[in-house]
Amino acid sequence: KTVIIGGGSGFIGTALSNLLRSCGYDVVIVSRVPGSFRMTWSELEQNGLPKNTAAVVSLAGQNILDMKRRWNSGFEQTVRASRINTTLSLAKAIEKADVKPSVFVSTSGVGYYPPHPSKVYTEYSEGGKGDYFAELCTDWELAAKLPTDVNTRQVIIRSGVVLGRRGGMIAQLYLPFFFGLGGPVGSGQQYLPWIHLHDIARLFLYAIEKENVEGVLNGVSPDLITSKQFARAFGGSLWRPALIPLPEFACNILLGSERARMLTEGQKVIPQRTLELGFEYNYPDIRSACQEFSPLIYTD
Ligand code: NDP
Repeated sequence: KTVIIGGGSGFIGTALSNLLRSCGYDVVIVSRVPGSFRMTWSELEQNGLPKNTAAVVSLAGQNILDMKRRWNSGFEQTVRASRINTTLSLAKAIEKADVKPSVFVSTSGVGYYPPHPSKVYTEYSEGGKGDYFAELCTDWELAAKLPTDVNTRQVIIRSGVVLGRRGGMIAQLYLPFFFGLGGPVGSGQQYLPWIHLHDIARLFLYAIEKENVEGVLNGVSPDLITSKQFARAFGGSLWRPALIPLPEFACNILLGSERARMLTEGQKVIPQRTLELGFEYNYPDIRSACQEFSPLIYTD
């Protein structure tokens, strides 16, 4: 059985591809760059999905927190197009396929729920409007919508910040924390919805394999933590104090204030449906997660 992954060359996509291959699937990545076991977006448009495609996954997207890129309208456009156009291309390819894949799993983010200091969000909560990221997620999820006459099961995973040793936020924070210069962002009181890389990859696999899984799942761990609690746990796993906060004004200067809100504000997101549907986490709490990606033994 073949799984097609748009953006499968990335941080989450690589973990998912490895997991799928270890479970006996063939994986084909849709990428801007040609290569073996890959197809480009224009090849997808011209040739459609390969035969025997059992599942399609949408995981492409320009890294929003890329410090090398200034937050301006051009970059915003890239952020949108790299998610929405790629997802639309996959949805179109499914629509055109003679033999439809049995499932389409598409990514969205917890940014769907606007930041709030106390509100608790589940998959049943309203969201999707109120700020740039909420609206981006709404349009991203809409792009994945297949016409009702297409008999392909649909799942949307709203991911929290993915924590893993070799990429994403941990890779960016590793050096400052290692040198004892890490700490909470801003006040540290804002919630940080997170999930371990292995668990998000397992959740995608779960969505692919379990026929009763449909609709929106929050891809976050059940352990609600604040930015301060994260800094303590991560610093602790490296035996570092993690007491030096990154002030909000510095984030605003580094990232631009709209983008900085991703770090300086947060939301309390619970994986209610994910748990109801029986998914079990390997890393349900921040201690076990930090232990996995730290080279040192965790103490607190
Ligand atoms: P990556 O930053 O690793 O990027 C994934 C892939 O997207 C890349 O390998 C690249 O594939 C493709 N891509 C990047 N920029 C563009 C572009 N401008 N146009 C078209 N394709 C592009 O992402 P992650 O694996 O970390 O995340 C995957 C998805 O999950 C993203 O959409 C992200 O927004 C979302 N997400 C991630 C979170 C995280 O903490 N990592 C949290 C919440 C959501 P190639 O170079 O092969 O074309």
